[in-house]
Amino acid sequence: MTIHADAMHAITDETRDTVDGVLAYARTRALYENVPLDKPVTPDQLAETAAGSITAHGIGAQRATALFADVLAPTCLSIDHPGYVSFIPSAPSKAAIAFDLVVSASAIYGGSWLEGAGAVFAENEVLHWLAREFGLPEGAGGVFVQGGTIGNLSALVAARSAARLRNAENGLADPPRFKVVCSSEAHSSIVSAANVMDVEVVPVPTGADGRLHGDAVASALDEHADAVFAVVVTGGTTNFGIVDDIASVASVTKSRGVWLHVDGAYGLAAMLVERMRPTFAGVELADSVIVDPHKWLFAPFDACALLYRDPAQGRAAHTQHAEYLDTLTERPDWNPSDLAVQLTRRSRGLPLWFSLATHGTDQYRASIDHGIVLARDIADEIERRDGLSLVRDPQLSVVVFRREGWTMTDYQAWSDRLLDDQIGFVVPSSHRGEPVLRFAIINPLTTFAVLSGILDTLR
Ligand SMILES: *Cc1c(COP(=O)(O)O)cnc(C)c1O
Repeated sequence: MTIHADAMHAITDETRDTVDGVLAYARTRALYENVPLDKPVTPDQLAETAAGSITAHGIGAQRATALFADVLAPTCLSIDHPGYVSFIPSAPSKAAIAFDLVVSASAIYGGSWLEGAGAVFAENEVLHWLAREFGLPEGAGGVFVQGGTIGNLSALVAARSAARLRNAENGLADPPRFKVVCSSEAHSSIVSAANVMDVEVVPVPTGADGRLHGDAVASALDEHADAVFAVVVTGGTTNFGIVDDIASVASVTKSRGVWLHVDGAYGLAAMLVERMRPTFAGVELADSVIVDPHKWLFAPFDACALLYRDPAQGRAAHTQHAEYLDTLTERPDWNPSDLAVQLTRRSRGLPLWFSLATHGTDQYRASIDHGIVLARDIADEIERRDGLSLVRDPQLSVVVFRREGWTMTDYQAWSDRLLDDQIGFVVPSSHRGEPVLRFAIINPLTTFAVLSGILDTLR
């Protein structure tokens, strides 16, 4: 049998059927009334049921789709299940899910204006809206990158590059090892970024309220003086949703001329809710900011909005130079690739753009507020119930609590049962050595009834 090189690409009955079949499955999955939670199986079990799909002649789209739908997908947790409240969930809007397919179908290169002008423009509309919401000045801008980890890394690389340039301008030598200051509660991706960059992390203790404050940062800057190239504040810690005292830290970094980065991967979305804005005071002074649309802005995996107060500083650090790229980099165009650790990029901001354009910003504010209100309500319910107590009052949409008298073994057995029974996905966590439970509420379909139903099983 001859194999034609274009068989996968040409428009034939077969390729048409493939596209139709896949879109039909995607449509069914996107519109499930009751999303199954599903659960993992062992590698051995999958080896038995799912191995052997890669063959010389192909198994055909129908069989491959069936294999995914019937065997593989049911072993992947549905992050958008209303009872999925572990880690930080994701609950993409229907509009965003659907448009993600369009991004794939449209073969857009999102790295340069020359290649993706309209897509870059639409992404920038979203980025500029976010920048305005966060109080950043006109001229602020950025890029959608894969996730908060890459966003934090890219921002910190830009911060170090700015410190190096400033040292060079002032005839100063760089320190033997640059240092980054953050709270002891900062996300693990800051340590990860520091490892990649080979810089030292200076962890600063938080106050009794769990927040990083300016005076503690000032002492750290006194001690480590000229080696510190950036201070990271967290706009909503992953564990508790605690927002650092950004304003007091910002006044210290401004007076010392140190880069301020706000890691708002999870929590900064809450700033879109008017009454929450004071909690985030000081964000407007940041040199760089991140927020993950795949967390609390209802976009599918994976997207992080990275914003610079002065995008030129991101460009100075990240623009890749190569002969084959000169035609792009020597233009005055807005090229998203120049602003982060990446070159080729998917226009991963487009699903959020489409959903925001479709529904408007008021809908976003209301859907985010749902999580904040529900966190408060379920926290009150926890306090009312015998045998349950809060570890601390929720500030955003994370609720941490304990079941009195339970050990980690009890929590784990309960959590496994909850998943087995397909009620919810709540994994035990720990706080200062004490095992605890944690609800992270993102999904507008997660209701008081869903969560109190989970509490009912804690007996
Ligand atoms: C989730 C999170 C990150 C990491 O983001 P990813 O998208 O998972 O890479 C960083 N910081 C905070 C505060 C987070 O909650």
